[in-house]
Amino acid sequence: TLDQHWQMHAAPIADDARLVHLVDRTGQYAAERMRVDFVANASHELRTPLASILGYVETLADEAGEDPGLRQRFLGIVFDEARRMERLVEDLMSLSRIESEKFRELRTAIDLGAIARETCDTLATTHGDRGVDIRLDLADDLPPVTGDQVQLSQLLHNLIGNAMKYGRAGTPVEVTLESGPQSVCLTVADQGEGIPPEHLPRLTERFYRVDPGRSRSLGGTGLGLAIVKHIVERHRGRLNIASTVGVGTRVMVTLPAAPGALS
Ligand code: ADP
Repeated sequence: TLDQHWQMHAAPIADDARLVHLVDRTGQYAAERMRVDFVANASHELRTPLASILGYVETLADEAGEDPGLRQRFLGIVFDEARRMERLVEDLMSLSRIESEKFRELRTAIDLGAIARETCDTLATTHGDRGVDIRLDLADDLPPVTGDQVQLSQLLHNLIGNAMKYGRAGTPVEVTLESGPQSVCLTVADQGEGIPPEHLPRLTERFYRVDPGRSRSLGGTGLGLAIVKHIVERHRGRLNIASTVGVGTRVMVTLPAAPGALS
């Protein structure tokens, strides 16, 4: 009977319970699930603009190509959709580059203030039409941080870019760099509509967006904060996002100062 079977087989295990190994694979399954979701999401994000490009090109090849007004309009859409794919592919490549360089030692001393100035100048030009001014407040005694110039520049670009995208026209974005104990603290604050608290813990997930339509219409890929999180981790820093609906959002990044910089 089944009972006898159990007694026979369970006895030796019960005699020496130390032989029983339980392997917790929850983390492994969760990681695998995330990888599968990520590939599915990335494919979907690429397929949507691609389907649109194919549709418009097909129409252009037919009758619409004859009408100069229509042709211009459709070519404009094709260009915008292709740009969207380009941004997405660039962000996907950044993520995979950051991951593949995870174990390479960081050695270069970086002047974060100089990167902040450069990034603010660039964004003031490219996002200038949004009616949001950047105010940069740099402490004079900033120590260097040990890091990767390209990645730190991308971190600043993504955070200040978001503040300008989601900020309110006519209000400033404040970028502050100050020195903390053995560290450099970056704060990017905007006076946009803010983020409801239930979304805050998920913002750094790949493709997580509070308002997908709004993000897409502003040219967002949904990967900006995931990239920021990876860069902060790689530099052994800390990331904190605080937001109040109707008031604005404040993102803080603390990075350790280069060894010896403060002595
Ligand atoms: P996206 O490309 O969509 O901007 P991110 O990863 O940079 O992607 O940000 C994820 C989501 O977090 C955004 O879609 C947006 O909903 C929200 N978000 C990020 N920064 C801000 C901000 N400064 N103010 C309000 N919402 C923000």
